[in-house]
Amino acid sequence: MKMDIASDPLALQSAAYRDGAGRGAAYLDGLSARKVAATTTQLRSLDRPLPDTGMSADAVLALMDEVGAPGSVATAAGRYFGYVVGGALPAASGARAMLSAWDQIADRPTGPSVLVMEEVALRWVADLLGLPGGTEGVFTTGATMANLALLATARDELLARAGWPRGRGLIGAPSLRIVAGAEIHATVLKSLRLAGLGSEAIERVPVDDQGRMVVDALPRLDVRTLVLAQAGNVCTGASDPFAPLVAACREAGAWLHVDGAFGLWGRAAPATAHGLVGVEGADSWVVDAHKWLNVPYDSGIALTRHPEAMRATMAMGASYLPPTAPSPADLAPEFSRAARGAECWAALLSLGREGVADLVARCHGHACHIADGLREMGFILPHRVWLNQVFAIPPKGGRTGAEIAAAVQASGEAWFGPASWQGQDGFRISVSNWATTERDVERLLLAVKAAALASARHQR
Ligand SMILES: *Cc1c(COP(=O)(O)O)cnc(C)c1O
Repeated sequence: MKMDIASDPLALQSAAYRDGAGRGAAYLDGLSARKVAATTTQLRSLDRPLPDTGMSADAVLALMDEVGAPGSVATAAGRYFGYVVGGALPAASGARAMLSAWDQIADRPTGPSVLVMEEVALRWVADLLGLPGGTEGVFTTGATMANLALLATARDELLARAGWPRGRGLIGAPSLRIVAGAEIHATVLKSLRLAGLGSEAIERVPVDDQGRMVVDALPRLDVRTLVLAQAGNVCTGASDPFAPLVAACREAGAWLHVDGAFGLWGRAAPATAHGLVGVEGADSWVVDAHKWLNVPYDSGIALTRHPEAMRATMAMGASYLPPTAPSPADLAPEFSRAARGAECWAALLSLGREGVADLVARCHGHACHIADGLREMGFILPHRVWLNQVFAIPPKGGRTGAEIAAAVQASGEAWFGPASWQGQDGFRISVSNWATTERDVERLLLAVKAAALASARHQR
């Protein structure tokens, strides 16, 4: 079809936009009745030769809806407990829809209103997390890019302090040391490699039975050391002991970076904040908006108390850009950026301080309830419920964690995946969706029980 743009081109966009939004709303309305897992049998119909003659927007959206919607994983539903995914808060989801019509690039000349929302959202986030005054940051595509931006910043700053001029890069530079807990997230290793620091030479610090760095086992730190700590272990939810880490890093002049992709939100509620005391003393922090805060994908945040160092690493300047106007691109790895900050602003404005605390506390409460239910069924939980993560080891002689996860996935009642923790196989449950209800938790526990009982019968 040749597009007819003669009369009113934007009326075509507006009609398609309404169609897409309407189909999205119908999708959400049907989610509690469908299987959580994707139905993938029809996906081949999406794979076709690029047509010579294109289809109408209606026909494209109808095909996407008919095949793509069932082929999606129902992560928006409250019965999805895989990874640490989260859902999307109503205000954030609605904001995403509206923003897709605005299609702004989040910078001053191209998106003044979304940029203000982004700046305000960053201020609110720093405040909610209890980070020090003077903290600045930027929205990125996720924690991986936020970690990359801050690792590059720390790298350049430590080298500059050692007298190595900025801009010279790593070739011939004095060597830096990387110290990290044995439970460092795999994506941080990737960010380290992207930052030219490599992931082979890390000095690994042993962790305790919860996954927290053992501070007494820290190697000697110095002014060329970058220490990588974690807020929120993906299996146990436990965080590194920040207060002694901060003290050790301050004394040695090392840079302390905290990957708190989901865990830093634990600062927002009293029931989860106790494990995160002292984290405000670090040099830089990463947190995702798209995980526990329930902002749509993708949305990460990089924050530091050394914004001038971050700007020195990330700013670029170009002849056609206003020379004085500060830009988020001076801190971000990306240049053209979506209006992620506006979605986060909408989420936070709709929640308020109490709403964020309630979201975190509610997920934590569900996780505690799930942990109790699993223990009653005979599962072994090797950790306290610090935040929203639960790792369970099945009782001996029954189905394995992978078998139970597969059976629950197949039931359609809930979704979580197998995992292993300190050499023991089991499964992992994350409660990170605002939409998860008590009823969803009951359905999850019943599905696990059915999977475990089926195995007991099978054994006899
Ligand atoms: C998810 C996660 C990451 C990576 O975050 P992305 O937003 O997916 O890039 C890093 N660290 C931890 C602890 C995580 O849970």
